[in-house]
Amino acid sequence: MECIFCKIANKEIFSEIIAEDEAFVVFKDIKPKAPVHLLFIPKTHLGPVNTLRLKDTELVGRLILKAKEVAQSSGISEDGYRLIFNIGRDAGMEVEHLHLHLLAGKPLKLVN
Ligand code: 5GP
Ligand code: ZN
Repeated sequence: MECIFCKIANKEIFSEIIAEDEAFVVFKDIKPKAPVHLLFIPKTHLGPVNTLRLKDTELVGRLILKAKEVAQSSGISEDGYRLIFNIGRDAGMEVEHLHLHLLAGKPLKLVN
């Protein structure tokens, strides 16, 4: 399996994992774009948002709720945070394994 995020989920590649459950892994982005920059991934391989199907609805919904949970438990919820899915070239998407970015820790500009 060539997918780097599958390797992170399987612990074949080191990452700074900050939370994990049966379905998801949460780890620090290697090139943080904000003081807090986390990535939320399903352990099973799913493609980016433009490849999702109706059958993926529950997993994707739970992925978003996982981000909410981690934001609350790590104390960033009150100041606020941003959740991002990048899709395709113009969004700068690099990794083809579904991942949700969480950015926080300072007032965020809407980037371009
Ligand atoms: P994308 O641009 O595809 O939405 O986001 C991919 C993100 O994964 C980027 O922010 C990038 O810094 C991060 N990333 C890529 N490879 C690795 C890695 O091996 N380890 C970690 N922790 N983050 C990675
Ligand atoms: Zn994968």
